[in-house]
Amino acid sequence: MDWFYELPNLTKSDPEIAALIKKEVERWEFGLQLIPSENYASPALLEALGSVLTNKYAEGYPRKRYYSGFEFVDPIETIAIERAKKAFGVPHANVQPYSGSPANMAIYLATCNPGDVIMGLNLPDGGHLTHGWKTSVSGMFYKSVPYHVNENGYIDMEEVRSLAQQHRPRLIWVGATAYTREFDFEAFGKIADDVGAYLVADMSHVTGLILAGVHKSPVDHVHLIMTTTHKTLRGPRGAMILVTKKGLDKDPELADKIDRAVFPGLQGGPHEHQIAATAVALGEALKPEFREHGAQIVKNAKALASSLTDNGLKLVSGGTDNHLILIDLTPFGAGKGIFASEALEAAGIFVNKNTIPNDPSTPFYPSGIRLGTPALTTRGMKEGEMAQIGEWIAAVINETRVYELPEKEQRAEYLKKFRAEIKANSAIGRVKDNVKALCSMFPFYTGRA
Ligand SMILES: *Cc1c(COP(=O)(O)O)cnc(C)c1O
Repeated sequence: MDWFYELPNLTKSDPEIAALIKKEVERWEFGLQLIPSENYASPALLEALGSVLTNKYAEGYPRKRYYSGFEFVDPIETIAIERAKKAFGVPHANVQPYSGSPANMAIYLATCNPGDVIMGLNLPDGGHLTHGWKTSVSGMFYKSVPYHVNENGYIDMEEVRSLAQQHRPRLIWVGATAYTREFDFEAFGKIADDVGAYLVADMSHVTGLILAGVHKSPVDHVHLIMTTTHKTLRGPRGAMILVTKKGLDKDPELADKIDRAVFPGLQGGPHEHQIAATAVALGEALKPEFREHGAQIVKNAKALASSLTDNGLKLVSGGTDNHLILIDLTPFGAGKGIFASEALEAAGIFVNKNTIPNDPSTPFYPSGIRLGTPALTTRGMKEGEMAQIGEWIAAVINETRVYELPEKEQRAEYLKKFRAEIKANSAIGRVKDNVKALCSMFPFYTGRA
């Protein structure tokens, strides 16, 4: 058994935290993880992440630091940078952003002035908070002009083009957190060039697919790329900003501007344990096996999508091109995502409730379920398992059809009753047993003796 499950020192010094971490390892082991932004970090990567590198203060960049003691840390950060440049085919990489949202803030800081017009996919249509949504600083400091998906669930490129020409944005985002189709980076590139805008691919969700060669890379069409490292890349929580050749052609100082925006503009000392783990993740993604893994993620998503529709569920855009699926629950009524997601959790199946385009309900009580296949694919599951899992998901959701979201004042009481009934529901109990049995056949952490 590995140290990250045994936790020999922590169990002695802080049994309360140790016990909860062990329970969480078991949740990853015996549940079906279908949240599309989550994944299994490898045991090797966890060793880098849990290392003494967390002790080091490293403000600055390799060979340009403020403190001493960089004999080993500088080569680590340099390896991460070089692997990122090689993996994505870019001339410059910054691996220091703490996570995706601060990385996007650094991009604004490097390229925009407060009050500039920016464009991104509308949040309820699948976009990210940091692409100009009103509750994010990106929607407060910049003038946000969102674009949308059409009635078929695809990004409306005509709208993108006309909004860009009308509003002349400084920056356009292409990327999403809940979008099931491939991005047309080339078309976005032409639109951005026509209006002189910076084009940034925020490919956080699909990085693994792009590195595996399953989706086309944005690298020739955008000026900057942001990617989180913890989603399909299977790394630690973190992010990278990549400057493309096209970006340097537009602004030869763009790489320096990005570096200065990350530090000292926005952040202090980088997390070198996280950067070492990012290097490990990139090393894993550069291996030939990763191409097969990426292809399998999409095969699995298509198999799961077919199984869900065969079992009577409606999907936004009717299916998927990537790792992600959005179930539209409006045929059963508005605001039913909470019932579906909690009932699935009771069965050991983890998904998230999510808004769907033109959602008739609210973000906390949305009408959709978002799920995806990256984590199950990492465990080694294939199309056969996906067909089975789709049946189970449909069966569990079917048990929640009778529940209707009441008015605000009655919600707490109603949800309490719902949770008690779900716990006692025998059909859901049977799915839970089946889930556990399936997971036992695909050990990832505790199964390593
Ligand atoms: C996940 C994600 C982010 C933000 O990442 P955090 O690490 O959660 O801050 C930004 N953009 C997109 C498209 C994402 O999917």
